[in-house]
Amino acid sequence: MQENFSLKPYNTFGVDAKAKYFIEVQTLEQLRDAISYSKDHHLQILFLGGGSNILLTKDFDGLAIKLSFKGISEEDLNENEVLVTAKAGENWHEFVMYCLEKNYGGLENLSLIPGNVGTSPMQNIGAYGTEIKDIFVSCTVLDLENLELKTFNLEQCHFGYRDSIFKQEGKGRYVILEVSFKLTRKDHHIKTEYGAIKTELDNSGITHPTIQDVSKAVINIRQSKLPDPKVTGNAGSFFKNPTIPLVQFEELKHQFENIPGYPNGDVVKVPAGWLIEQCGWKGKQIGNAASHKLQALVIINATGNATGKEIFDFSTEIINSVKEKFGIELEREVNIL
Ligand SMILES: Cc1cc2nc3c(=O)[nH]c(=O)nc-3n(C[C@H](O)[C@H](O)[C@H](O)COP(=O)(O)OP(=O)(O)OC[C@H]3O[C@@H](n4cnc5c(N)ncnc54)[C@H](O)[C@@H]3O)c2cc1C
Repeated sequence: MQENFSLKPYNTFGVDAKAKYFIEVQTLEQLRDAISYSKDHHLQILFLGGGSNILLTKDFDGLAIKLSFKGISEEDLNENEVLVTAKAGENWHEFVMYCLEKNYGGLENLSLIPGNVGTSPMQNIGAYGTEIKDIFVSCTVLDLENLELKTFNLEQCHFGYRDSIFKQEGKGRYVILEVSFKLTRKDHHIKTEYGAIKTELDNSGITHPTIQDVSKAVINIRQSKLPDPKVTGNAGSFFKNPTIPLVQFEELKHQFENIPGYPNGDVVKVPAGWLIEQCGWKGKQIGNAASHKLQALVIINATGNATGKEIFDFSTEIINSVKEKFGIELEREVNIL
């Protein structure tokens, strides 16, 4: 266990906040010991995966536990399906690549999302028309109340858009240890309708894409649009796309005729990036924080020296101006600590 430990390398914003104590755990026994220690010493706990969805606004006066359990196992379900289970500390993109090498389908649209497998159920990670709920079978967690193991199936996770039981009523109670996915061995369900995947494939002359082709297309698109956290600190989309009542959307349409929206029954999902851009934030910098020049939805640590508080205040300014112009309240997707 280390004391007064800088978490700068452990969050993709590159914010230099300190944890009072820090420990990296590789086994369940080590995790149980660390939790017991924090209980005995009345320390708050912060679990860390890849640190790609957190904003540290101040030093953490407790025990930060970096989850580094490793291992991937497989079980045949039937001729066409395989159950693949990965431990929490496996890197998400490396796990996706592992599955693609074995020609297991289902994860290809989720290529190049930063972070770890254990965190993937937290916000039901999603991209390019796929969310993990589409292939998720179950996850094993440790219940911090009684230190017992528990399994959550798909239904029990209450997955929603960037949401799950682990961000709601189960917040802070469960630590996810491993996650199981049902993937296809053949007859893959290729999804190319979303975003620019089809155009990307057309440009490469690919008319009958494999899951590997889809993955490459997704990687190319992501690399051209999103800042690499290794170069510029960020946590991907800072806000969720808001869902508003159809009536409100229709009223806004009178005033802003180009406003994009994706109707679903009596609600409409509006791209947060468009709203932010309309308020003049795209590429704008205040102090060390900025909105990315290619994607207004991404807030960046522009100089590498931004504090978490600076980034948080920047995000509040964006929320206020979107609220003022459109009457829509943006919700942060990133976990604020
Ligand atoms: C460039 C970029 C692009 C991104 N694109 C996408 C995208 O397309 N789609 C998408 O959904 N997300 C995206 N994200 C966000 C992020 O990658 C995901 O949310 C990812 O799942 C976070 O994983 P992590 O391990 O880094 O989480 P962390 O940041 O380490 O943790 C996030 C939260 O979960 C808690 N936590 C971590 N591990 C566990 C565990 N095992 N059990 C319980 N709690 C835990 C932490 O305490 C924290 O509150 C992007 C981020 C970046 C930087």
